[in-house]
Amino acid sequence: MALRTADEYREGLRDGRKVYILGKEVSDVTEDPYIKVGVETAAFDFLMGHDPELRDMAVMKDPETDEEISTYFELPYTPDCVGRRHELVKGSSNYADGALPFVKDVGTDIMNGLTAVARIMGNKTYEERVHAYRRHCAQKDLSMCGAVTDVKGDRSKSPSEQGSPDYYLRVVDRTDDGIVVSGAKAHITASAYTDEILVIPTRNLSEEEADYAVAFAIPMNTPGITQICRPSFRYEDRHHFPTPNPKRGHVEALVIFDNVHVPMERVFMLGEWQFSQYLAYAFAAFHRFTAVTYKIPILEYMTGLGMLAAEANGIEKASNIRESFISMIQYTETTKALAKAAIMDPEDFGGSGLYVANRLTANMAKLYFASNFHEFIRNIQDICGGILVTQPTYQDWQQEELRPYLEKYMGGAGAYDAEARLKLMSMLHHTVASDFGGWHEVCTVHAEGSFAAQKMMLAIEAPTEMYKNRAKEIVGLDT
Ligand SMILES: Cc1cc2nc3c(=O)[nH]c(=O)nc-3n(C[C@H](O)[C@H](O)[C@H](O)COP(=O)(O)OP(=O)(O)OC[C@H]3O[C@@H](n4cnc5c(N)ncnc54)[C@H](O)[C@@H]3O)c2cc1C
Repeated sequence: MALRTADEYREGLRDGRKVYILGKEVSDVTEDPYIKVGVETAAFDFLMGHDPELRDMAVMKDPETDEEISTYFELPYTPDCVGRRHELVKGSSNYADGALPFVKDVGTDIMNGLTAVARIMGNKTYEERVHAYRRHCAQKDLSMCGAVTDVKGDRSKSPSEQGSPDYYLRVVDRTDDGIVVSGAKAHITASAYTDEILVIPTRNLSEEEADYAVAFAIPMNTPGITQICRPSFRYEDRHHFPTPNPKRGHVEALVIFDNVHVPMERVFMLGEWQFSQYLAYAFAAFHRFTAVTYKIPILEYMTGLGMLAAEANGIEKASNIRESFISMIQYTETTKALAKAAIMDPEDFGGSGLYVANRLTANMAKLYFASNFHEFIRNIQDICGGILVTQPTYQDWQQEELRPYLEKYMGGAGAYDAEARLKLMSMLHHTVASDFGGWHEVCTVHAEGSFAAQKMMLAIEAPTEMYKNRAKEIVGLDT
């Protein structure tokens, strides 16, 4: 099958999946006013392959059949795959107006992690199953979400110590041809509008927790899956000034698995508790680099928005504001530089033959990005002034009686008349001071792993022995 069109992708979502939002069941996710924001953001993925300017980046030949498939499915067998992936993720994010389509990156990062771990385990069956699944998704041009994070209950306790056995997803039964799983995965991006879901464990497990060591992939409309979505903002955005394209973003869901049957050919880990944490780690090794890469276009346009706000208010030459510019530039460019540095030194993950961006640098990039985002936003908020949250809405602007007042009082500096200034501030409100702005801040802290996850990887990957040996040489110690 050829690469799908955006319409074919949308059509594929009308498959009887069980999705709720704001307490109501959704009959067609492509038409729900909130979920549609995500559907249309994801649809960009299916435009790229048909866009002559992007085809080289977005499309590759299947090495086994020579058919055209999405480049997201490339197995990173050589170091230069890492650089290509960087360009693909950054290019996708740029193309979708600064929001990654998010329906192939996380899924293929999980597939890469699964393949690497199956090889390291020496488990040919799993390796072949993952390979068959990758080819199935590539040939049908399917979209996928990745479900790693369990609901976790009491964070200080492991799955077997919890008050409820259901705080982590687990195998509850076995059948002749597969397994039955129950549990819930939290915060799952785009699950309401992907064709498939890939599930892996989120943490280390002990022997008596072997039922929790399970990885698999199934279609999103599999009986027993229920999704509860959280709205961010509506596709028809009536309060903000219109933009050339609707605003982009994603919807996350709590995905509940209530006695869900998984056919055995879709099971990629079953009981290997010794490898559960390593699988989560392998996925993170691939995905954290994706994370820092797709942020780059977002930081670039946010920096630009802050600079335009200064122009609109006539303060772009003031020393205090230039100080803020420097801080914003330093933040954006350091994040970019760290991401680029991670490409320059790729690694064969655990001797699996699959290449990842340098783990130490990629994690530093993510940690740096997440640790400094709020200060970056604070600078933009400072530049804008209180209008950021007190501005009249687009409905006011459209009101005959009110518009003359707004034209008279809301103008700014230079070419910024009232309309231009309000339009800009409206976008800034959406970006750094709305529900969505709050979502962005929390997303930065937690999505793709909270601070502790990156710090753990830094501790593992840092050349600590080299540091100590250097110091010993200088001190003259031979202990
Ligand atoms: C916008 C968004 C999108 C996301 N998309 C996805 C997705 O598509 N797929 C997916 O699988 N996940 C997704 N996530 C989940 C994300 O990976 C988690 O939010 C993150 O790993 C943190 O887990 P948590 O939210 O359960 O927070 P918690 O684990 O509750 O962490 C909260 C704090 O508690 C600390 N903590 C937790 N446990 C311990 C402990 N035992 N000891 C000491 N400190 C502890 C943490 O370090 C952190 O500081 C998404 C999250 C967000 C916000």
